[in-house]
Amino acid sequence: MVKPSSLLLSALLFETTVYGSNVEFRKKTGGVAFIGDELNQTPFPQWLTDFTGMTQWPGLVPPYIPLDFIDMDKIPQYNRYQQGVCDANPREACSFDCDQCVAHDDVSTCRKLSQTFDDGPSPATLKLLQYLHHKATFFTLGINSVNHPDIYHQIQDGGHLIGSHTWSHAYLPSLSNEEIIAQIEWSIWAMNATGNHIPKWFRPPYGGIDNRVRAITRQFGLQAVLWDHDTFDWSLVTNDPFKTEQEIYNDVALWKLIENRGLILEHDGARKTVDVAINVLDLLGDDQLAVSQCVNGIDYIQEF
Ligand SMILES: [Zn+2]
Repeated sequence: MVKPSSLLLSALLFETTVYGSNVEFRKKTGGVAFIGDELNQTPFPQWLTDFTGMTQWPGLVPPYIPLDFIDMDKIPQYNRYQQGVCDANPREACSFDCDQCVAHDDVSTCRKLSQTFDDGPSPATLKLLQYLHHKATFFTLGINSVNHPDIYHQIQDGGHLIGSHTWSHAYLPSLSNEEIIAQIEWSIWAMNATGNHIPKWFRPPYGGIDNRVRAITRQFGLQAVLWDHDTFDWSLVTNDPFKTEQEIYNDVALWKLIENRGLILEHDGARKTVDVAINVLDLLGDDQLAVSQCVNGIDYIQEF
């Protein structure tokens, strides 16, 4: 069987429209960063200038800013690896995307079958918000959050939970410790400046997490959120989809019938995946939980 991660990798070569994956695509191909209308960007706060010396939000590769509270000695020295290259480390490294390994503090399921949405905020998110009548979970990219603060605020106004999905959708196991920290810190600063909160929940892009990545995210107080049901909805926006919409609905109907519990991975970065999400919502109804509710946990580390 072909691993989903390698399917994702090949699909991304044709990716053009999903916000999060698009960022990754442009990074792989050396393209230009998505820069939103600067007038509508989240203003770069003075406290962040004081701390970083910068005056505007970074592009796709955020700079590493050292943080006092991160202890580099606590980070195990596992090898870096590219997506789909899964023989770099022993099983004890606990890679989710390579070995489906889930750590004791990862959240990967829920007592009610619940949708989660990655890669926004994007213009497509707005349509999804119109249909959501329960508290749902969005894992946002920092770069999209500062470029779409109005949409980010509408997610908040809807009473939904927002977690981090890194700054620019990096595959974290391939990065150095400093580069991982940069992806996390800038996503947190984006959420702080845009939404006045500091996230508790973190979803690694492509499910790319092992104990080296966890040793960093834990020092930010973040808890990883994975999934146990994958719709592969992102495949619909590639040139070579390997799932039809109907197959996705059939999958979800089966999950509801046989188990009716768990976390479903979906995306709000494109109109097509949002349309699928709305139909899945119609199938499942509003009896769903946000990730924090699944584990009786807090929504944010701090809200201002
Ligand atoms: Zn993503």
